[in-house]
Amino acid sequence: MAAKQLDNYTSHSPLVGEYVQIDAVKWQPFPGALSEGGIRWKLLHVAPEMGAWTGIFDCPKGSSFARHVHIGPGEYYLTRGKMEVRGGINQGGATAIAPSYGYEACNARHDRTYFPEPSEFYMTFLGPLNFIDESGTTRALVTWQEAQALWLQQTGAG
Ligand code: ZN
Repeated sequence: MAAKQLDNYTSHSPLVGEYVQIDAVKWQPFPGALSEGGIRWKLLHVAPEMGAWTGIFDCPKGSSFARHVHIGPGEYYLTRGKMEVRGGINQGGATAIAPSYGYEACNARHDRTYFPEPSEFYMTFLGPLNFIDESGTTRALVTWQEAQALWLQQTGAG
């Protein structure tokens, strides 16, 4: 965390580095307005100098993320399970099967990122996620600041 020291996070200037003992950090619910099916997350790091943020997500079978656009690119590592991105392989997208890596380009639009099996993935977002409605109107813009504010609120450190 750039802003505040939390338990299980070492301090920090991002220029110095950061270490997070992931299994010692409690899962928090990812907002239900932006996802379905009980997705949980842990915010691992924010990098204000790049507008980047990194998290790990626990996605139960049948869960999904609501429609969004990646304003900047993102890289993920699916550690467990299966993730259907951009409609999955049957609709011209990708179906990631763990262990797998993926790169989502700047402006990638994901109408429904879906998890047909219990899954977990790590992802770094270079820039905000723009959650949109069907017509493309912004519902919620999740920048590193929003992600950090939510995390600090959920973990009682805000
Ligand atoms: Zn996405």
